[in-house]
Amino acid sequence: MIDFLETLFSLRGKVALVTGASRGIGAVLARALTAAGAYTVGLGRSSDPNAAFPVGSEYRQCDILDVDHFASICADVFQVNGRLDVLVNAAGITLPKSEGADALQDFGRTISTNLVAVHHCCQTSAGYMKRIGGGSIVNVTSIGSVLGFPGNPAYVASKGGLRMLTKALAMDLAHDNIRVNNLAPGYIKTDMTEASFQDPERYAERLQHMMIKRWGTPEDLAGAAIFLASDASAYITGTDLFVDGGWTAKGL
Ligand code: NAP
Repeated sequence: MIDFLETLFSLRGKVALVTGASRGIGAVLARALTAAGAYTVGLGRSSDPNAAFPVGSEYRQCDILDVDHFASICADVFQVNGRLDVLVNAAGITLPKSEGADALQDFGRTISTNLVAVHHCCQTSAGYMKRIGGGSIVNVTSIGSVLGFPGNPAYVASKGGLRMLTKALAMDLAHDNIRVNNLAPGYIKTDMTEASFQDPERYAERLQHMMIKRWGTPEDLAGAAIFLASDASAYITGTDLFVDGGWTAKGL
């Protein structure tokens, strides 16, 4: 039974790319996939990640807005390792509180990063997954992909768009045996949410929406990411997996 479970969730022999891996959620997911056996290449804008990458993984500088650079990394990873099985799109930005002309500019920047660039990453990596007979793409969305939040329409629109992009790509790539799913976090303590985590009023306001009475950690997402990347989810595509402490299911 233990052998069966280990095989089911194992990523041994697989090669994974994780964007947004310099810190926060992406960094933890890159380590989680490595621990599950994948050779993992983490990408981020920073020249160095905020923590060392373990044996069985590496970090490369890559801004996903530079689609040619991302494509050259995919080509290189495929050439060196002979395969590309998994892509986790964790890179993302949030630019709240923009006003006036800045608001329009920030709207464009948010959509470009969280949606357009992610689409490029999916399509480019899918080209390599096809060559090995399939793969798994995990897009990190948000509870904002299904709920309206105030003060940041660009972020909500980008994640809502990404949620539906996933479903459209799941359709288009199914005949190539490539699964595409959403991993939708609730409030997770990272640099992105640090300001509201530190503000007692905003902290408590968010906590009220959670059935499990604590903010999430990036580690809370590790099991779900391994599940979606591995054969344990072989018959699952186009779905949303919420890791949100019950936020989206909560009524009164
Ligand atoms: P974070 O701590 O702010 O980290 C963001 C990561 O994305 C960093 O590694 C950053 O790289 C990378 N990144 C941003 N723009 C990039 C670009 N153009 N090219 C390459 N990498 C880029 O955020 P996080 O909380 O870990 O969020 C990770 C993902 O989860 C995001 O998609 C976010 O929207 C989503 N999410 C987070 C929460 C939450 O509560 N934290 C909730 C729902 C969804 P550099 O550091 O090198 O710039």
